[in-house]
Amino acid sequence: MMRARKNIVVLKFGGTSVGDVRKIGKVADRVIKTRNEGKDVVVVVSAMGDTTDRLIEIAGKVTCNPSRREMDMLMSTGEQLSSSILAMAVQERGYGCVSLTGSQAGILTDEFYSNARILNIRADRISKELKEDKIVVVAGFQGINAEGDITTLGRGGSDTTAVALAVALKADYCEIYTDVGGIYSTDPNLVRKAVKMHSLSYDETLELASSGARVLHTRAVEFAKKNNVVLHVRSSFNNDEGTWVMNERDIDMKMEKPVITGVTSDTDQVKISIFELEDKPGEAARLFGKFSDNNINIDLIVQNVSEKGLAAISFTIKPGDLSIAREVLKELEQEHAVIDTEVAKISIVGAGMQAHPGIAAGMFGILADRGINIEMISTSPIRISCIIRKSRVKDAVRALHSGFDIK
Ligand code: ADP
Ligand code: ASP
Ligand code: MG
Repeated sequence: MMRARKNIVVLKFGGTSVGDVRKIGKVADRVIKTRNEGKDVVVVVSAMGDTTDRLIEIAGKVTCNPSRREMDMLMSTGEQLSSSILAMAVQERGYGCVSLTGSQAGILTDEFYSNARILNIRADRISKELKEDKIVVVAGFQGINAEGDITTLGRGGSDTTAVALAVALKADYCEIYTDVGGIYSTDPNLVRKAVKMHSLSYDETLELASSGARVLHTRAVEFAKKNNVVLHVRSSFNNDEGTWVMNERDIDMKMEKPVITGVTSDTDQVKISIFELEDKPGEAARLFGKFSDNNINIDLIVQNVSEKGLAAISFTIKPGDLSIAREVLKELEQEHAVIDTEVAKISIVGAGMQAHPGIAAGMFGILADRGINIEMISTSPIRISCIIRKSRVKDAVRALHSGFDIK
Protein backbone atom coordinates (compact mmCIF):
# COMPACT_ATOMS: atom_id res chain seq x y z
CA MET A 1 0.00 0.00 0.00
CA MET A 2 1.38 3.45 -0.93
CA ARG A 3 0.76 6.34 1.44
CA ALA A 4 1.54 10.04 1.81
CA ARG A 5 5.04 10.79 3.02
CA LYS A 6 5.46 11.76 6.68
CA ASN A 7 8.32 13.38 8.51
CA ILE A 8 11.42 11.22 8.46
CA VAL A 9 13.63 10.52 11.46
CA VAL A 10 16.89 8.57 11.57
CA LEU A 11 17.67 6.50 14.68
CA LYS A 12 21.10 4.91 15.09
CA PHE A 13 21.84 2.11 17.56
CA GLY A 14 25.43 1.28 18.52
CA GLY A 15 27.04 -2.10 19.15
CA THR A 16 26.11 -2.48 22.83
CA SER A 17 22.53 -1.41 22.11
CA VAL A 18 22.13 -4.36 19.72
CA GLY A 19 24.49 -6.60 21.74
CA ASP A 20 22.14 -9.60 21.98
CA VAL A 21 18.77 -10.77 20.74
CA ARG A 22 16.93 -9.45 23.81
CA LYS A 23 18.40 -5.99 23.28
CA ILE A 24 17.51 -6.12 19.59
CA GLY A 25 13.91 -6.82 20.69
CA LYS A 26 14.01 -3.67 22.85
CA VAL A 27 15.34 -1.69 19.88
CA ALA A 28 12.49 -3.03 17.75
CA ASP A 29 10.00 -1.82 20.39
CA ARG A 30 11.56 1.63 20.46
CA VAL A 31 11.60 1.89 16.68
CA ILE A 32 7.92 0.89 16.51
CA LYS A 33 7.05 3.43 19.22
CA THR A 34 8.61 6.21 17.11
CA ARG A 35 6.80 4.89 14.09
CA ASN A 36 3.50 4.99 16.00
CA GLU A 37 4.17 8.65 16.83
CA GLY A 38 3.58 9.23 13.13
CA LYS A 39 7.12 9.28 11.75
CA ASP A 40 8.75 7.53 8.85
CA VAL A 41 11.60 5.69 10.51
CA VAL A 42 15.01 4.87 9.10
CA VAL A 43 17.20 2.89 11.49
CA VAL A 44 20.97 2.49 11.27
CA VAL A 45 22.63 -0.30 13.24
CA SER A 46 26.17 -1.17 14.22
CA ALA A 47 27.37 -4.75 14.47
CA MET A 48 26.30 -6.69 17.58
CA GLY A 49 28.60 -6.09 20.58
CA ASP A 50 32.23 -6.68 19.73
CA THR A 51 31.52 -8.49 16.44
CA THR A 52 33.77 -6.18 14.39
CA ASP A 53 36.73 -6.87 16.72
CA ARG A 54 36.06 -10.61 16.46
CA LEU A 55 35.98 -10.47 12.65
CA ILE A 56 39.32 -8.64 12.65
CA GLU A 57 40.71 -11.31 14.99
CA ILE A 58 39.66 -14.07 12.61
CA ALA A 59 41.47 -12.39 9.73
CA GLY A 60 44.53 -12.04 11.99
CA LYS A 61 44.62 -15.83 12.38
CA VAL A 62 45.02 -16.21 8.62
CA THR A 63 47.41 -13.39 7.75
CA CYS A 64 49.15 -10.46 9.39
CA ASN A 65 48.85 -8.45 6.20
CA PRO A 66 45.27 -8.85 4.95
CA SER A 67 44.12 -7.19 1.74
CA ARG A 68 42.14 -4.06 2.57
CA ARG A 69 39.43 -5.02 0.10
CA GLU A 70 38.89 -8.39 1.79
CA MET A 71 38.92 -6.77 5.23
CA ASP A 72 36.05 -4.50 4.20
CA MET A 73 34.19 -7.43 2.70
CA LEU A 74 34.62 -9.20 6.06
CA MET A 75 33.89 -6.30 8.42
CA SER A 76 30.73 -5.25 6.59
CA THR A 77 29.12 -8.60 7.46
CA GLY A 78 28.76 -7.60 11.14
CA GLU A 79 26.25 -4.88 10.28
CA GLN A 80 24.44 -7.14 7.81
CA LEU A 81 23.84 -9.62 10.61
CA SER A 82 22.43 -7.05 13.05
CA SER A 83 20.31 -5.25 10.43
CA SER A 84 18.60 -8.39 9.19
CA ILE A 85 17.92 -9.67 12.73
CA LEU A 86 16.43 -6.29 13.71
CA ALA A 87 14.25 -6.32 10.57
CA MET A 88 12.97 -9.79 11.54
CA ALA A 89 12.25 -8.61 15.10
CA VAL A 90 10.22 -5.67 13.75
CA GLN A 91 8.34 -7.91 11.30
CA GLU A 92 7.61 -10.34 14.13
CA ARG A 93 5.83 -7.49 15.92
CA GLY A 94 3.52 -7.04 12.95
CA TYR A 95 5.13 -4.13 11.11
CA GLY A 96 6.49 -3.92 7.59
CA CYS A 97 10.27 -3.68 7.64
CA VAL A 98 13.16 -4.19 5.27
CA SER A 99 16.92 -4.32 5.90
CA LEU A 100 19.35 -2.88 3.35
CA THR A 101 23.11 -3.13 3.00
CA GLY A 102 25.01 0.13 2.49
CA SER A 103 25.12 -0.64 -1.21
CA GLN A 104 21.36 -1.31 -1.43
CA ALA A 105 20.76 1.92 0.47
CA GLY A 106 22.67 3.78 -2.28
CA ILE A 107 25.67 4.86 -0.18
CA LEU A 108 28.48 5.62 -2.63
CA THR A 109 31.99 6.15 -1.29
CA ASP A 110 35.50 6.89 -2.50
CA GLU A 111 37.95 4.04 -3.10
CA PHE A 112 39.79 4.02 0.23
CA TYR A 113 39.07 0.69 1.88
CA SER A 114 38.66 0.68 5.68
CA ASN A 115 38.44 4.46 5.85
CA ALA A 116 36.20 5.41 2.93
CA ARG A 117 34.36 8.71 2.70
CA ILE A 118 30.75 8.98 1.60
CA LEU A 119 30.57 10.85 -1.72
CA ASN A 120 26.88 10.61 -2.46
CA ILE A 121 23.70 8.85 -1.37
CA ARG A 122 21.12 7.74 -3.92
CA ALA A 123 18.19 7.48 -1.58
CA ASP A 124 15.48 6.37 -4.05
CA ARG A 125 15.40 2.80 -2.76
CA ILE A 126 14.93 3.94 0.83
CA SER A 127 12.27 6.44 -0.26
CA LYS A 128 10.43 3.72 -2.17
CA GLU A 129 10.40 1.41 0.88
CA LEU A 130 9.19 4.24 3.14
CA LYS A 131 6.39 5.04 0.71
CA GLU A 132 5.37 1.39 0.94
CA ASP A 133 4.92 1.96 4.64
CA LYS A 134 7.98 0.04 5.74
CA ILE A 135 10.47 0.75 8.48
CA VAL A 136 13.89 0.73 6.82
CA VAL A 137 16.94 -0.71 8.62
CA VAL A 138 20.28 0.20 7.06
CA ALA A 139 23.52 -1.66 7.85
CA GLY A 140 25.85 1.04 9.21
CA PHE A 141 29.56 1.60 8.56
CA GLN A 142 29.54 0.59 4.89
CA GLY A 143 29.08 1.72 1.34
CA ILE A 144 30.11 0.81 -2.16
CA ASN A 145 32.86 2.32 -4.34
CA ALA A 146 32.83 3.11 -8.06
CA GLU A 147 34.15 -0.41 -8.79
CA GLY A 148 31.12 -1.91 -7.07
CA ASP A 149 33.20 -3.19 -4.15
CA ILE A 150 32.15 -2.91 -0.50
CA THR A 151 33.97 -0.26 1.53
CA THR A 152 33.82 0.56 5.24
CA LEU A 153 33.89 4.02 6.79
CA GLY A 154 36.43 3.61 9.61
CA ARG A 155 35.84 2.35 13.16
CA GLY A 156 32.75 3.91 14.69
CA GLY A 157 31.52 4.80 11.19
CA SER A 158 27.85 3.85 11.70
CA ASP A 159 27.32 7.30 13.24
CA THR A 160 28.40 8.78 9.92
CA THR A 161 26.01 6.51 7.99
CA ALA A 162 23.18 7.80 10.17
CA VAL A 163 23.97 11.49 9.80
CA ALA A 164 24.62 11.18 6.06
CA LEU A 165 21.22 9.47 5.64
CA ALA A 166 19.56 12.17 7.74
CA VAL A 167 21.03 14.75 5.33
CA ALA A 168 20.09 12.84 2.18
CA LEU A 169 16.52 12.17 3.38
CA LYS A 170 16.08 15.69 4.83
CA ALA A 171 15.16 14.05 8.14
CA ASP A 172 13.75 16.12 10.99
CA TYR A 173 16.47 14.94 13.34
CA CYS A 174 18.98 12.18 13.98
CA GLU A 175 19.10 10.30 17.26
CA ILE A 176 22.25 8.42 18.25
CA TYR A 177 21.39 5.74 20.81
CA THR A 178 24.38 4.47 22.75
CA ASP A 179 25.45 2.81 26.01
CA VAL A 180 25.91 6.05 28.00
CA GLY A 181 23.44 8.85 28.68
CA GLY A 182 24.89 11.39 26.25
CA ILE A 183 28.11 13.32 25.80
CA TYR A 184 29.92 13.82 29.11
CA SER A 185 32.72 16.10 30.27
CA THR A 186 34.97 13.04 30.00
CA ASP A 187 34.53 9.30 29.47
CA PRO A 188 31.97 8.35 32.18
CA ASN A 189 33.40 4.84 32.21
CA LEU A 190 36.77 6.29 33.27
CA VAL A 191 35.75 9.10 35.63
CA ARG A 192 32.71 8.58 37.85
CA LYS A 193 32.23 12.31 38.35
CA ALA A 194 31.94 13.01 34.61
CA VAL A 195 29.11 15.45 33.92
CA LYS A 196 26.48 14.94 31.20
CA MET A 197 26.12 17.96 28.96
CA HIS A 198 22.70 19.25 27.93
CA SER A 199 23.85 20.82 24.68
CA LEU A 200 27.07 21.31 22.77
CA SER A 201 28.06 23.27 19.68
CA TYR A 202 29.21 21.44 16.56
CA ASP A 203 32.69 22.92 16.98
CA GLU A 204 33.16 21.71 20.53
CA THR A 205 31.74 18.30 19.67
CA LEU A 206 34.07 18.10 16.68
CA GLU A 207 37.08 18.78 18.89
CA LEU A 208 35.89 16.26 21.49
CA ALA A 209 35.24 13.58 18.85
CA SER A 210 38.46 14.11 16.93
CA SER A 211 40.53 14.10 20.09
CA GLY A 212 39.23 10.75 21.33
CA ALA A 213 35.69 10.96 22.82
CA ARG A 214 34.57 7.99 20.78
CA VAL A 215 30.89 8.54 21.58
CA LEU A 216 30.55 10.17 18.11
CA HIS A 217 32.47 9.49 14.88
CA THR A 218 34.26 12.68 13.85
CA ARG A 219 32.98 12.63 10.29
CA ALA A 220 29.41 12.31 11.57
CA VAL A 221 29.84 15.60 13.40
CA GLU A 222 31.41 17.21 10.32
CA PHE A 223 28.42 16.14 8.21
CA ALA A 224 25.98 17.38 10.85
CA LYS A 225 27.72 20.74 11.11
CA LYS A 226 27.91 21.27 7.36
CA ASN A 227 24.24 20.47 6.89
CA ASN A 228 22.85 21.80 10.15
CA VAL A 229 21.45 18.46 11.32
CA VAL A 230 20.52 18.47 15.01
CA LEU A 231 21.87 15.39 16.79
CA HIS A 232 20.50 13.93 19.98
CA VAL A 233 22.95 11.54 21.65
CA ARG A 234 21.14 9.46 24.28
CA SER A 235 20.97 6.16 26.11
CA SER A 236 19.28 3.19 24.51
CA PHE A 237 18.57 1.79 27.99
CA ASN A 238 16.24 4.54 29.28
CA ASN A 239 14.08 7.44 28.05
CA ASP A 240 16.14 10.25 29.58
CA GLU A 241 17.03 13.27 27.52
CA GLY A 242 20.62 13.06 26.32
CA THR A 243 22.91 15.69 24.79
CA TRP A 244 21.87 17.95 21.92
CA VAL A 245 24.49 18.87 19.35
CA MET A 246 23.61 21.96 17.34
CA ASN A 247 24.69 25.38 16.16
CA GLU A 248 26.29 27.56 18.82
CA ARG A 249 23.71 30.32 18.20
CA ASP A 250 20.80 27.97 18.89
CA ILE A 251 22.12 26.93 22.29
CA ASP A 252 20.52 28.55 25.31
CA MET A 253 23.12 31.15 26.21
CA LYS A 254 21.54 31.88 29.59
CA MET A 255 23.58 29.04 31.01
CA GLU A 256 27.10 30.12 31.89
CA LYS A 257 29.60 28.22 29.81
CA PRO A 258 32.50 26.58 31.61
CA VAL A 259 35.99 27.42 30.34
CA ILE A 260 36.79 23.75 29.85
CA THR A 261 33.95 21.58 28.54
CA GLY A 262 35.69 18.27 28.34
CA VAL A 263 38.78 16.13 28.75
CA THR A 264 39.51 13.39 26.22
CA SER A 265 42.08 10.70 25.71
CA ASP A 266 43.11 8.69 22.67
CA THR A 267 45.29 5.64 23.07
CA ASP A 268 45.05 4.87 19.35
CA GLN A 269 48.22 6.76 18.54
CA VAL A 270 51.62 5.82 17.15
CA LYS A 271 54.51 8.28 17.16
CA ILE A 272 56.98 8.23 14.27
CA SER A 273 60.25 10.17 14.54
CA ILE A 274 62.50 10.90 11.60
CA PHE A 275 65.87 12.30 12.56
CA GLU A 276 67.70 13.09 9.38
CA LEU A 277 65.50 15.16 7.14
CA GLU A 278 67.23 17.77 5.02
CA ASP A 279 66.40 21.23 6.36
CA LYS A 280 65.29 22.83 3.09
CA PRO A 281 61.99 24.02 1.60
CA GLY A 282 59.78 21.27 0.21
CA GLU A 283 61.02 18.38 2.40
CA ALA A 284 58.03 18.40 4.76
CA ALA A 285 55.67 18.74 1.77
CA ARG A 286 57.32 15.71 0.11
CA LEU A 287 57.18 13.64 3.29
CA PHE A 288 53.60 14.40 4.27
CA GLY A 289 52.45 14.42 0.63
CA LYS A 290 53.41 10.73 0.41
CA PHE A 291 51.44 9.94 3.56
CA SER A 292 48.41 11.82 2.28
CA ASP A 293 48.61 10.05 -1.12
CA ASN A 294 48.20 6.83 0.86
CA ASN A 295 45.20 8.20 2.77
CA ILE A 296 47.13 8.20 6.06
CA ASN A 297 45.96 10.90 8.45
CA ILE A 298 48.70 12.72 10.34
CA ASP A 299 47.69 14.10 13.70
CA LEU A 300 50.28 15.97 15.79
CA ILE A 301 53.53 17.19 14.22
CA VAL A 302 56.63 18.57 15.93
CA GLN A 303 59.79 19.70 14.12
CA ASN A 304 62.91 20.17 16.17
CA VAL A 305 65.65 22.77 15.77
CA SER A 306 67.89 21.74 12.93
CA GLU A 307 71.48 20.75 13.52
CA LYS A 308 74.09 20.54 10.75
CA GLY A 309 71.42 21.21 8.12
CA LEU A 310 69.29 18.28 9.32
CA ALA A 311 65.89 18.47 10.96
CA ALA A 312 64.07 16.01 13.19
CA ILE A 313 60.33 15.60 12.75
CA SER A 314 57.97 13.60 14.94
CA PHE A 315 54.34 12.99 14.07
CA THR A 316 51.51 10.69 15.08
CA ILE A 317 49.26 8.40 13.06
CA LYS A 318 46.63 5.74 13.84
CA PRO A 319 47.86 2.18 14.56
CA GLY A 320 45.66 0.85 11.74
CA ASP A 321 47.77 2.83 9.24
CA LEU A 322 51.09 1.54 10.57
CA SER A 323 51.72 -1.19 8.01
CA ILE A 324 51.14 1.20 5.09
CA ALA A 325 53.19 3.86 6.89
CA ARG A 326 56.12 1.42 7.07
CA GLU A 327 55.93 0.97 3.29
CA VAL A 328 55.81 4.75 2.78
CA LEU A 329 58.86 5.18 5.03
CA LYS A 330 60.68 2.57 2.95
CA GLU A 331 59.83 4.44 -0.26
CA LEU A 332 61.11 7.64 1.32
CA GLU A 333 64.33 5.81 2.34
CA GLN A 334 63.49 6.49 6.00
CA GLU A 335 63.64 2.90 7.26
CA HIS A 336 65.48 4.08 10.37
CA ALA A 337 62.55 6.13 11.61
CA VAL A 338 61.72 5.34 15.24
CA ILE A 339 58.22 3.96 15.76
CA ASP A 340 56.75 4.29 19.25
CA THR A 341 53.43 2.58 19.97
CA GLU A 342 53.40 3.33 23.72
CA VAL A 343 52.08 6.88 23.40
CA ALA A 344 48.65 8.42 23.90
CA LYS A 345 47.03 11.79 23.41
CA ILE A 346 45.16 13.70 26.09
CA SER A 347 43.25 16.89 25.34
CA ILE A 348 41.22 19.58 27.02
CA VAL A 349 38.45 21.22 24.99
CA GLY A 350 36.38 24.33 25.62
CA ALA A 351 35.10 27.30 23.63
CA GLY A 352 35.68 29.41 26.74
CA MET A 353 39.46 28.99 26.63
CA GLN A 354 39.70 31.61 23.88
CA ALA A 355 38.80 34.33 26.36
CA HIS A 356 40.81 32.95 29.29
CA PRO A 357 44.60 33.17 29.23
CA GLY A 358 46.66 30.67 31.20
CA ILE A 359 44.74 27.51 30.34
CA ALA A 360 47.75 25.85 28.66
CA ALA A 361 49.97 26.72 31.63
CA GLY A 362 47.30 25.28 33.93
CA MET A 363 47.19 22.03 31.97
CA PHE A 364 50.99 21.62 31.90
CA GLY A 365 51.15 22.42 35.64
CA ILE A 366 48.56 19.74 36.50
CA LEU A 367 50.51 17.16 34.46
CA ALA A 368 53.82 18.24 35.97
CA ASP A 369 52.41 17.84 39.50
CA ARG A 370 51.67 14.20 38.64
CA GLY A 371 55.16 13.71 37.16
CA ILE A 372 53.67 13.16 33.69
CA ASN A 373 56.08 14.09 30.90
CA ILE A 374 54.75 15.96 27.84
CA GLU A 375 56.32 14.73 24.58
CA MET A 376 54.40 16.77 22.00
CA ILE A 377 51.88 19.60 22.13
CA SER A 378 49.32 20.87 19.65
CA THR A 379 46.55 23.44 19.94
CA SER A 380 43.48 24.77 18.17
CA PRO A 381 41.57 27.88 19.32
CA ILE A 382 39.42 25.67 21.54
CA ARG A 383 41.65 22.64 22.29
CA ILE A 384 45.05 21.82 23.77
CA SER A 385 46.48 18.32 23.23
CA CYS A 386 49.58 16.64 24.63
CA ILE A 387 51.25 13.36 23.75
CA ILE A 388 52.27 11.45 26.87
CA ARG A 389 53.17 7.84 27.78
CA LYS A 390 50.22 5.49 27.31
CA SER A 391 50.67 4.09 30.82
CA ARG A 392 49.80 7.49 32.37
CA VAL A 393 46.57 8.20 30.46
CA LYS A 394 43.98 7.41 33.13
CA ASP A 395 45.98 9.33 35.69
CA ALA A 396 46.21 12.34 33.40
CA VAL A 397 42.50 12.39 32.50
CA ARG A 398 41.42 12.17 36.15
CA ALA A 399 43.91 14.84 37.20
CA LEU A 400 42.82 17.27 34.47
CA HIS A 401 39.12 16.65 35.12
CA SER A 402 39.46 17.42 38.80
CA GLY A 403 42.20 20.04 38.32
CA PHE A 404 39.96 22.18 36.09
CA ASP A 405 37.04 21.55 38.44
CA ILE A 406 34.64 20.60 35.65
CA LYS A 407 31.06 20.61 36.90
P1 ADP B 1 28.34 2.78 20.21
O1 ADP B 1 28.64 1.33 20.07
O2 ADP B 1 26.98 3.05 20.75
O3 ADP B 1 28.65 3.56 18.95
P2 ADP B 1 30.83 3.64 21.37
O4 ADP B 1 31.54 2.61 22.19
O5 ADP B 1 31.33 3.91 20.00
O6 ADP B 1 29.29 3.30 21.37
O7 ADP B 1 30.81 5.04 22.15
C1 ADP B 1 30.28 5.11 23.46
C2 ADP B 1 31.41 5.09 24.47
O8 ADP B 1 32.18 6.28 24.31
C3 ADP B 1 30.98 5.12 25.92
O9 ADP B 1 30.73 3.82 26.40
C4 ADP B 1 32.15 5.80 26.61
O10 ADP B 1 32.97 4.88 27.30
C5 ADP B 1 32.95 6.43 25.49
N1 ADP B 1 33.23 7.85 25.70
C6 ADP B 1 34.46 8.42 25.63
N2 ADP B 1 34.40 9.72 25.89
C7 ADP B 1 33.10 10.02 26.13
C8 ADP B 1 32.40 11.22 26.46
N3 ADP B 1 33.03 12.39 26.58
N4 ADP B 1 31.07 11.16 26.64
C9 ADP B 1 30.41 9.98 26.52
N5 ADP B 1 31.02 8.81 26.22
C10 ADP B 1 32.35 8.82 26.02
N1 ASP C 1 30.95 -1.91 13.86
C1 ASP C 1 31.87 -0.84 13.51
C2 ASP C 1 32.92 -0.69 14.60
O1 ASP C 1 32.93 -1.45 15.55
C3 ASP C 1 31.19 0.45 13.20
C4 ASP C 1 30.40 1.06 14.36
O2 ASP C 1 30.14 0.42 15.36
O3 ASP C 1 30.01 2.21 14.23
O4 ASP C 1 33.77 0.15 14.49
MG1 MG D 1 30.44 4.31 18.16
